[in-house]
Amino acid sequence: MITDILEMGEQTKLRGQIVVLGSGIAGAELATHLARHGREVILVESGREQFDPSIQALNDVIFLGKRHRELDPDAYYHRYLPPELRGVSRVRQFGGTSNVWTGKWKYLQPIDFDGRPWVANSGWPISFTDLLEHYRSAAKDYGFGDLEAEAVRPEIMELRAKLAAGGLKMSSFYWEKTPTRTAIRFGDEMRRSKNLHVVLGATATELRLDDSCQRVTAVACRSLEGRELIVEGDVVVIATGAFEAARLLLASNRQLPHGIGNASDLVGRFYTDHPKHHTGTLQPGPLTRQYARELQYAPKPRFCICFALDDATQQQHKLLEHVLYLKPIYEKPKDRVWRILRFRPTCRDGNGRVAAYRVKFVTEQAPHKSSRIKLGTEYDALGQRKLEVDWCFTDQDRDSMAKTLQLLTQRFAEVGLGTFDFGNDPPSLENMTDAAHQMGTTRMASRAEEGVVDTNCRVFGTENLYIASSAVFPTGPSYSPTFTILALARRLGEHLLQTAPKSTELHVSGT
Ligand SMILES: Cc1cc2nc3c(=O)[nH]c(=O)nc-3n(C[C@H](O)[C@H](O)[C@H](O)COP(=O)(O)OP(=O)(O)OC[C@H]3O[C@@H](n4cnc5c(N)ncnc54)[C@H](O)[C@@H]3O)c2cc1C
Repeated sequence: MITDILEMGEQTKLRGQIVVLGSGIAGAELATHLARHGREVILVESGREQFDPSIQALNDVIFLGKRHRELDPDAYYHRYLPPELRGVSRVRQFGGTSNVWTGKWKYLQPIDFDGRPWVANSGWPISFTDLLEHYRSAAKDYGFGDLEAEAVRPEIMELRAKLAAGGLKMSSFYWEKTPTRTAIRFGDEMRRSKNLHVVLGATATELRLDDSCQRVTAVACRSLEGRELIVEGDVVVIATGAFEAARLLLASNRQLPHGIGNASDLVGRFYTDHPKHHTGTLQPGPLTRQYARELQYAPKPRFCICFALDDATQQQHKLLEHVLYLKPIYEKPKDRVWRILRFRPTCRDGNGRVAAYRVKFVTEQAPHKSSRIKLGTEYDALGQRKLEVDWCFTDQDRDSMAKTLQLLTQRFAEVGLGTFDFGNDPPSLENMTDAAHQMGTTRMASRAEEGVVDTNCRVFGTENLYIASSAVFPTGPSYSPTFTILALARRLGEHLLQTAPKSTELHVSGT
């Protein structure tokens, strides 16, 4: 069932077996999976079914380093959103950020997990194969196209071989027609479910521990209207997104002064995103013209392609992963005249004549400790300390981007993909924006000295507290983190089904 905290008494206590915080893709997937398998689940969500700016304001942060993009009602890249959401990077609403996202699904690559000696702090303590079955089952259940079959389609293999000969690699992603909105995907099931209780309008403000400080016994929640709710469970999973997960651990500092899971001072550190630049263009060369149909962005759903320097080049020059996306810009009558006057050949895909391609250039950020979020000195409307965000970069980020741009420019021309035009505004960390892909703030590691969660996403130093989020990504080189968030949530779901026996009854008490 779905209820609102306002439908409960002034001070209510709920008890379930597993408590999930957050109803985005991670939380909704996990909570429904566990409920389907007979577990008594309580899902606590700060937002409500309708977007509410006063609840959204609980996400406000103070920027100390590079800022995120600003809200911009005229932004061309978020035209599909209502003006007040253009530029938003996290959403506090039932369904979370899935209410606004664009629905591109992509695997991380095996090399992302393996670690690269030339990128400090890279690699995961689990491997690509640990996630593969969860990627596959999610793709099947959500009805995505088969990315593995796509990778061996003859045209794709042919193009990949041509690029490989020129020191480039490519990978495919699946783009949904209507992006998965979790409130829509899971809403009815949640309403009907007897053993899943979703509470809206309830913000988790503190995790309470037992005397050993190793077990979370309760989650204290509040609403903007002054309601209080205590939720108890045998297991608690934080799925509130990478910023709010770290914030809740840090804010739960009554019993542990540095917060929960923060014995090594790593909560909130290693924050990375994917800085992106999207104002360049590409004049198509012969190879692009030949494979223009593979580069179409519409109609959706469809598979699309992105490009990068090959692994050997990245290793040779100690580079990060920087990825290029090409979006067709279709010819207008004046473009046609311009092309004919310059004797340029036509580039045609299944939708029409392509005048040029919009270039989106996205960079990996080297994971490093000083890029971080921490509790600040200002307070939100619930009296919680706001986050301070110090998003900053290393010399490796800058050097790697400059070298990569030089090599990509050269190799795109050599293989016949085309020539770039960045005008007066070439990509630099100064003019790039965030990609709304917050990662790394509670990184996964095999040892407590190196991370915040273990390989099962359990917070070090606790027995029953888990995190389902890109917060746990130690590195996220490839663009589009959400498929991996989903695969990790599924993996965690399996782990909890094995370790959390069916026992407790859903129980409500209060005034
Ligand atoms: C415009 C846009 C486009 C995007 N496009 C893509 C894309 O194409 N591909 C891709 O891979 N990624 C994309 N992303 C990123 C993607 O949306 C996120 O990675 C993903 O939605 C994160 O899911 P989540 O469940 O971890 O977090 P969220 O969806 O942010 O969910 C967190 C939930 O927790 C709730 N919450 C927060 N704090 C509390 C609290 N204290 N107590 C209770 N509840 C709380 C929030 O209200 C929210 O519902 C995009 C993002 C944006 C903004």
